[in-house]
Amino acid sequence: MKKLILILFIAILAAFTACSKNEPVNPEDSQYVYVCTSNSAKTYHTDRNCARLKNCGQEVLEVTRKKARENERIICSDCDKRDKKSDKDTAK
Ligand SMILES: [Zn+2]
Repeated sequence: MKKLILILFIAILAAFTACSKNEPVNPEDSQYVYVCTSNSAKTYHTDRNCARLKNCGQEVLEVTRKKARENERIICSDCDKRDKKSDKDTAK
């Protein structure tokens, strides 16, 4: 009988885990990034002070990462490197 309760408990736990995995909310998507409104710009930046962003001759907009991706923007290679570096630093 104890075994049955344990199995039931695991099943409920598994169901909860599966449920939370299906959540469409990606914390990264709601993060704000910066895009240059220039027609030639194809990237987005995670850092407002990025050197590449400073070269933008047009207006800089603050949008969610999700929106930047929807507009087929890719992450700026400088910002990407910086993000990865800070991830590593946090992991230490
Ligand atoms: Zn950048």
